[in-house]
Amino acid sequence: MKLDDKLYLVRFNTDKLSHIKINDPKICLNQCQDKPCTRICPAHVYDWDDEEKRISVGYEGCLECGTCLIGCPYGNINWKYPRGGFGVSWKNG
Ligand code: SF4
Ligand code: SF4
Repeated sequence: MKLDDKLYLVRFNTDKLSHIKINDPKICLNQCQDKPCTRICPAHVYDWDDEEKRISVGYEGCLECGTCLIGCPYGNINWKYPRGGFGVSWKNG
């Protein structure tokens, strides 16, 4: 089974508040040429919005693996665990 197929089995208790923030969107726009966050996240949480010229963050699908914290070359991702009771549950994964 491929990773994307397995991800369909993961369940979430989604918070209304995002547990992920971009510290400075100008760094994404002006300094980060290859935007690795859009490739390294297994859940495809980060996407470059070419119209808005910013990174969009689909925090709802975060698997809480921590990869983006290591992979952002500018330390520009403010990531915290979701509030208690929210986030990924792995029940069926
Ligand atoms: S890797 Fe970091 S600096 Fe680069 S686009 Fe993503 S969040 Fe912005
Ligand atoms: S913690 Fe993992 S799944 Fe969540 S946004 Fe970062 S890389 Fe993606």
